[in-house]
Amino acid sequence: VYILAIESSCDETAAAVVKNGREVLSNIISSQIALHTIYGGVVPEIASRKHIEKINQVVEAALSEAGMTMEEMDAVGVTYGPGLVGALLVGVAEAKAIAYAAKKPLVGVHHIEGHVSANFIEHPELEPPFMCLIVSGGHTHLVVVKDYGEFEILGRTRDDAAGEAFDKVARAVGLGYPGGPKIDKAAKEGNPQAIRFPRAKVEANVYDFSFSGLKSAVLNHINHAKMMGEEINVPDLAASFQNAVVDVLVSHTIAAAKEYGFHKVAIAGGVASNSALREGMKKACSKAGIDFYYPSPIYCTDNAAMIGVAAYYEYMGGARAGWDLNAVPNLKLGER
Ligand code: ATP
Ligand code: MG
Ligand code: FE
Repeated sequence: VYILAIESSCDETAAAVVKNGREVLSNIISSQIALHTIYGGVVPEIASRKHIEKINQVVEAALSEAGMTMEEMDAVGVTYGPGLVGALLVGVAEAKAIAYAAKKPLVGVHHIEGHVSANFIEHPELEPPFMCLIVSGGHTHLVVVKDYGEFEILGRTRDDAAGEAFDKVARAVGLGYPGGPKIDKAAKEGNPQAIRFPRAKVEANVYDFSFSGLKSAVLNHINHAKMMGEEINVPDLAASFQNAVVDVLVSHTIAAAKEYGFHKVAIAGGVASNSALREGMKKACSKAGIDFYYPSPIYCTDNAAMIGVAAYYEYMGGARAGWDLNAVPNLKLGER
């Protein structure tokens, strides 16, 4: 079974061809990061316009790199939410047009289900059920992946998403956008114990997350240093902030895996490419006798290969979208 997959929920225009849900035959990503950097974040209007400009090229490149034609595809999978409405619409319209013209079924994919599915690409032995920590630009969810496309949410963020916290802190110390990779890099030269930042606990649910207190503590630290005329040690600050985030992400995940008796833990989303999170999770899992899975960095951030994987399992389960498929900017995980 061959799936042509399309992803355009944020600032990556992407298309891929995936064979039997696990084998990536092509994975084309046209990133707009450079375009949005000068604004310090993604500008929705610019994103939509750029998607329109790139989408045809990206789809053609995905097919040609796979050495295949539309006739050979079994279905077209596309991200229809969550994300920026104008950005999503470009991918959805493209997928509908292509599928209709080639008389192929259309499958709508939840972007976050895609992120989780990225783990299946390089781990052929990984199958549900397992525990997954989803840490992206807009989501921080601790979930049980009960089956393909079936999730039970154990915890979620009360305020900022993990990636959002990275981006905001990076901006505050002048590292620029996107903040995650820049903090990751700066932290390598710093001391994670230099500054003691708070690890927030959410009383109502032990598996929920909160990053706004940590973000405020970092901003206070910066303001205090400025007031005192002190130099800010960016590597130390980056390492200490990252350490606080990773600490909470790892401890929640391990605690949940133990309570629910899971011996398989995966991570997903852009922040899953963070080197400290990968190291911290690797150590904690090995200590607890848990198998740890994580995608290569290229499959952590937005891409269409992961959408192709999710689309395959949806397709095999009988999911078909109508020609009235629409973008759903605030689509919830587990909703269809
Ligand atoms: P969502 O998937 O929730 O809709 P998104 O698609 O914008 O949001 P992703 O593409 O999954 O998010 O991830 C982007 C986020 O990952 C950004 O916040 C970015 O700063 C963060 N990120 C990327 N690389 C790293 C890294 N090495 N360390 C920490 N964060 C990172
Ligand atoms: Mg992005
Ligand atoms: Fe994403």
